[in-house]
Amino acid sequence: MRYTSDDHEYRRLYHPGDRIFREGEHGSHAFIIERGTVEITTTRDDRLVRIALLGAGEIFGEMALIDNNVRSATAIAADECELIIIRREQIQTVLRNADLTLKMLLEVLLGRFRSMQSRISVADADSQGQPGDNEGAVSNLRRQYMRGYGYGHEPDHQHAIDRLKFEKEIEKAIADRTFVTELQPIVSLADGTVCGYEALIRWHHAERGFIAPTEFIGLAEASLLIRAIDRLVMRSAVQLLKDGMTGTDHFISVNLSGVSFADGSILRETRAVLSETGIDPTRLRIEITEGVLGENPATLIAILEGFAKLGVRIALDDFGTGWSSLNNLIRFPIHAVKIDRSFVKDMLRKEQGEEIVRAMVGMAHALGMEVIAEGIETIEQLQALWQMRCEFGQGFLLCRPLQPQKAFAFAAEGAVLSRGPVLLRETVQEPAAS
Ligand code: C2E
Ligand code: CA
Ligand code: CA
Repeated sequence: MRYTSDDHEYRRLYHPGDRIFREGEHGSHAFIIERGTVEITTTRDDRLVRIALLGAGEIFGEMALIDNNVRSATAIAADECELIIIRREQIQTVLRNADLTLKMLLEVLLGRFRSMQSRISVADADSQGQPGDNEGAVSNLRRQYMRGYGYGHEPDHQHAIDRLKFEKEIEKAIADRTFVTELQPIVSLADGTVCGYEALIRWHHAERGFIAPTEFIGLAEASLLIRAIDRLVMRSAVQLLKDGMTGTDHFISVNLSGVSFADGSILRETRAVLSETGIDPTRLRIEITEGVLGENPATLIAILEGFAKLGVRIALDDFGTGWSSLNNLIRFPIHAVKIDRSFVKDMLRKEQGEEIVRAMVGMAHALGMEVIAEGIETIEQLQALWQMRCEFGQGFLLCRPLQPQKAFAFAAEGAVLSRGPVLLRETVQEPAAS
């Protein structure tokens, strides 16, 4: 950041993706864009709506100059921006010295403008603002940010404040290292032994108790904090491998959000952490969802190829729930697919359920990929998957996610299954986490 300041004014440089201010925050500055583009978004009904894309010469955040209300929108640098910052005190000095009538008139006009603006922005959001029409390095990141959100109606500041508070708590949990990693064993169906683990994040909140990942991953993605979370889990997986409690050929598989692929930093970090620890890269795996494949394929292919070149294997998570044409699958260096648990669940309950899973297994094998079935809960599902020659399984029937030491102890006990899908021992039945 660069300052060319005197008492009243300074300039600041923002990089693509930098947040200038956030909805729900108190602010005391307005900004004039000297160079670059700024994206203004707001939340409605839990969805993110783009209000405007502003360019050079435009002003934003000006309401903060007049009252102490919280920001009603979020401003993010869409590319490299140079902004002139105007502080509330500056305006107050001017207003103090201004003619009383002019002062009152200004305040009335601004009050009207604020209420009009919130009405207009609702209408605007309904008619425009399709995310993703500005290209450049940041557009992918912003698209991720906006994906899953759509167009809402009433602005809800209290909700925005609650979200902001929750976001702050996630940020604090990252800084305080309150997040921990559990491991769920992945079992080879051929010999019944544990061959690796999936790392799953766990948050035991001091006041709220256990918070399931599904409750915070979405917000962590929207606020981009997921990048720090993914890095944290990846580092902790490599540390667990280094501690040497796993079998020497066991792997740990880490979930990476699409947001973590907006640039190559996760690849650089993984490379660094592997070389610092000397861990065999084939023992670290990553899981990405089908949705990620749709994003900026050129960047993604380069990053995934970087991982593959390093020796880190890539599994396609929640396979079947998203969009992945055969043609697309073969463009990416994917070595395994994880059949989503919804298919495993429906396999023996719905007509053609079994044929669908069989087709998925066949397709993956035809592409030279391994198959891991997720969410196995019954012996019957296990039996059917085994008969389809699905190689690996994961699910509560085999073992729940456990604290690392317990997961290693579980694996050290030997085979979970006999040759063929016969359960040899009770799985560790910890109380369900959620
Ligand atoms: P996922 O990657 O599909 O992870 C598998 C989820 O299925 C886990 O839920 C696991 O506890 C659950 N599961 C495993 N076996 C069974 C079963 O037999 N039955 C049922 N009903 N569920 C089973 P969890 O831990 O709540 O995680 C939910 C999702 O949160 C994960 O889905 C993943 O998308 C995300 N997640 C978890 N940890 C991380 C992380 O470190 N980074 C990122 N980016 N996402 C994560
Ligand atoms: Ca996963
Ligand atoms: Ca999954």
